[in-house]
Amino acid sequence: MFASVISGAVCGIESRLISVEVDISNGLPGFSMVGYLSSEVKEAQDRVRAALHNSGIHLDPKKITVNLSPADIRKAGSGFDLPVAVAMLAAYGRIPAKTVEGIFFAGELSLNGELRGIHGILGMVGEAKRAGCHSCVIPAANAREGAVIQGIRVYGAKDLDGTVKHLLGEEILEPYTINIEETFQNGGKCPKEDFSDIKGQEIVRRAAEIAAAGRHNLLISGPPGTGKSMIARRIPSILPPMTFDESLEVSMIHSVAGILPEEGILCERPFRMPHHTVSAAGLAGGGTVPRPGEISLAHRGVLYLDELPEFQKETLEILRQPLEDKNIVITRNTGSFVFPADFILVASRNPCKCGYYPDRTRCRCSEHEVRRYLHRISRPLLDRIDLHVSAEPVTYEELQNDAGGESSAAIRARVLKAHKMQTERYAGYKIRFNGELPAEAVSKYCQTDEEGRELMQSIFTKKRLTARTYHRILKVARTIADLEGEEKIQTKHLSEAVCYRPEE
Ligand SMILES: [Zn+2]
Repeated sequence: MFASVISGAVCGIESRLISVEVDISNGLPGFSMVGYLSSEVKEAQDRVRAALHNSGIHLDPKKITVNLSPADIRKAGSGFDLPVAVAMLAAYGRIPAKTVEGIFFAGELSLNGELRGIHGILGMVGEAKRAGCHSCVIPAANAREGAVIQGIRVYGAKDLDGTVKHLLGEEILEPYTINIEETFQNGGKCPKEDFSDIKGQEIVRRAAEIAAAGRHNLLISGPPGTGKSMIARRIPSILPPMTFDESLEVSMIHSVAGILPEEGILCERPFRMPHHTVSAAGLAGGGTVPRPGEISLAHRGVLYLDELPEFQKETLEILRQPLEDKNIVITRNTGSFVFPADFILVASRNPCKCGYYPDRTRCRCSEHEVRRYLHRISRPLLDRIDLHVSAEPVTYEELQNDAGGESSAAIRARVLKAHKMQTERYAGYKIRFNGELPAEAVSKYCQTDEEGRELMQSIFTKKRLTARTYHRILKVARTIADLEGEEKIQTKHLSEAVCYRPEE
């Protein structure tokens, strides 16, 4: 007897439908699984056998062959347990083959037959719906996540026994439904942490606003305890809330990584803060069938690297390509995977190893040590950061001032205005924000008035700017002008932009 059911596999962040075929014949009893499988998938036979047995289902020993097709996709994970079990039952005639038609199955089985949640359900259910499946049976732990996809019936099963009873019509499960609009509306789209919590640090706050407005990367230098991380953490709160499509896109990535929040959909822009001991694979994504790394989990949000010089140099080098291309390509012998990685990079660093340079009452680092510390960040990486600012220790007066700073909502309103200007300016062009402007397009889009040209000329000669720094100042000035709704860049915008240039 032969039977097949529909399941799915995650490839990168995309999902592909997999057909799980089972053939039962009267040869020598045995169990074999084929179809380009990882070792976890092959272990399914042991889990399935034990789960069936412990669910009180006894099958005559026969020659069982399981094939997962198409054969060109590497299958990993334990999500094939349930579809293998169901296909076996159908092949044995315990479940009418007709009843499993058009149903998507996925889930890991424990030895006692319970169903355990798996990663990547959101994308798989989405794919099942596109392929015309009318319903899906997935672990109860994943039901909410699956129900985010509208237009397909989602059944969350607790165990194999429950699944079989549902399919036989003995105990039909209730479809799991959520009101997706309501979930999205109440999803806390704007983070609770607010810029009004921050005292002082006007310059860093302003740089954060410019970073959010023009999607520029930002480096904050300063001694410990100056609130660098507090400010970085609040940058998602001044970015526009994600649209539903963005939210779904980001949720798919987090679903594959298995870190979706309970709501089943991520409504707030991501803020990722990997520790400096993170590996290259942890940052970029890795594994035989690669999983998204921190840079992809930060997609559409902020990646914050605290204590930048403490990261491994080789680890940081992998940031270069995604900072340009807004995605990362990971090549394995199982194929090439493209992960989205469109984020604002915010980094912080101490001015020296001990953190207190140039305060010589506290810092005992030699000039040489200070230089060496700062040079631990490579030039090509620094070149991709438009905004460089220093955070000064908070003064006593600022600390005593109870009135906090401007709220995130007020700053966000200006950021939105600047985004609108850029959307109009770059309509039909491949870039969206000033931070993405290539050098050759700077003179076209960053036009200054007569006075501004003279100012730039004098700064260029006096400060001996490189062409790169010159372009960077103009791009940042473009964003400052956009925040004010000005089409032409003026002297005041340029003078401010000059303050955020890196030391050469
Ligand atoms: Zn020091």
